[in-house]
Amino acid sequence: MSKQTTTPVSMTAEEFKTAGYHLIDRIAFLLDTIQERPVTTTKTADQLRSFLGTAPLPETGISADAIIKRATNLLFDHSLLNGHPKFLGYITSSATPIGALADLLGAAVNPNVGANILSPMATEIEQQTIRWLGEFIGVGPSYGGILVSGGNMANFTAFLAARTAKAPKSIKTEGIASSKPMTVYCSKATHAWIEKASFFFGIGTGGIRWIEQDEHHRIRIDLLEQAITRDLENGCNPFMVIGNAGDVSTGAVDDLRSISALCKTYDLWFHIDGAYGAPAAALPELKKVFEGIADADSIAIDPHKWLYSPLEAGCTLVKDPNTLIETYSTHPVYYNFNDTESRPHNYHEYGFQNSRGFRALKIWAALQQAGRKGYIQMIRQNIELSQLLFHLADKHSELEAVTQHLSITTLRYVPLLGLDTMDNRETYLNTLNEALLNVLQRSGEVFLSNAIVNGKYCLRGCIVNFRTSEKDIVEIVETIVHEGRKLHRKLMNHSAPVQLMNHRQ
Ligand SMILES: *Cc1c(COP(=O)(O)O)cnc(C)c1O
Repeated sequence: MSKQTTTPVSMTAEEFKTAGYHLIDRIAFLLDTIQERPVTTTKTADQLRSFLGTAPLPETGISADAIIKRATNLLFDHSLLNGHPKFLGYITSSATPIGALADLLGAAVNPNVGANILSPMATEIEQQTIRWLGEFIGVGPSYGGILVSGGNMANFTAFLAARTAKAPKSIKTEGIASSKPMTVYCSKATHAWIEKASFFFGIGTGGIRWIEQDEHHRIRIDLLEQAITRDLENGCNPFMVIGNAGDVSTGAVDDLRSISALCKTYDLWFHIDGAYGAPAAALPELKKVFEGIADADSIAIDPHKWLYSPLEAGCTLVKDPNTLIETYSTHPVYYNFNDTESRPHNYHEYGFQNSRGFRALKIWAALQQAGRKGYIQMIRQNIELSQLLFHLADKHSELEAVTQHLSITTLRYVPLLGLDTMDNRETYLNTLNEALLNVLQRSGEVFLSNAIVNGKYCLRGCIVNFRTSEKDIVEIVETIVHEGRKLHRKLMNHSAPVQLMNHRQ
């Protein structure tokens, strides 16, 4: 018999088991049948709202089991299932089942991983997880860091550390005005986080130097150096270069080694945005592509992307963890990293958050379940499937394969008939492919997103999905062509019926 007092949110052990076993049974069923379900709901927001009902906040409570049952029904039937093998949209991975169990466990223990005293073992697990992430991608043992909510936060955390390290010491008391204008360098393909960072941290978008890419979608090193020297001549304070590994649109990896060399020459902070691509650095066959990664002052890597962690999980790795303390600790006078026995590791001193959840557990668990070998196998398989998608598009007469880097392929549908007589061919193809993407996304059969590559509106498949198979890729190509044909016919009928008649065979 439990001696605990009964409150409106209490559950007896029996109640917890009933609701919990029920929940686990249902989740197991969802995961077991995920490939037979639609990728996403076909219902509109209005319809979903009507399922949910418009009841006001309930005055009195109901049983936990009933709530769990209702929640699973609502979510299983009306969600976008990014765990579906044909979900290749944006950069959102299917989530490890062990991650779901770990989140449940983490929430049950509920450590506050902001302070060591509030999370003794969880703090150790987070440190071990971060060490393993560094080992996995092949950076040196000096690297440490912090888990954050995702790529944006991981990049912000590094950005402010870079600014603090490269600005006059007075910046912490006098603010940004105590520095000459600070400038940051990145390719035009850099993710939108950089603009937000420029708003937050006083640089302004005027302080961002967007550098052109070469024909392989990598930052132009010659233009990068020119921009730095020009800014130095003009009295600016260049402080940071961002290398993408790989970039969010096409997956291209910048020439990290050359960026690193420039950063040494000009005493700049070298940051790598590897939110998506950094885990691929673990593959022996990609060592050359990622050469220079171990020189970075900071690296953003998202376990919730290519390590298949459930949302949310990002990580900032820094070569020298003192740089985070100098940026974020309000008591930097007493830091002493060599004496870990007497100096507790308090994560609130390493980043933006004070109270922090236990993000590490789901990553830590999956890293052990798969091991280094298991992860390399899954990442390699994703890359091979992406290459297959490119190859199938390339040899199909109605598809144009556009780019392929890491596990991202871009392609577009190009109909065989009706294009010759158009003087706005490219505009039409952009309209057609944009409409095609919308049709595909709503179909529930496959989920792709888009990229604009050299002015072309492309369908974009990013495979960070351990459930996707060769069969799925073959079927996805068939679906794209099938829907593309239908849509082209419809658009031609709609806009130029006479012209279409002339071309009908
Ligand atoms: C996804 C991504 C981000 C943003 O990460 P979130 O987890 O969505 O905040 C930043 N940079 C790159 C290269 C990314 O792929």
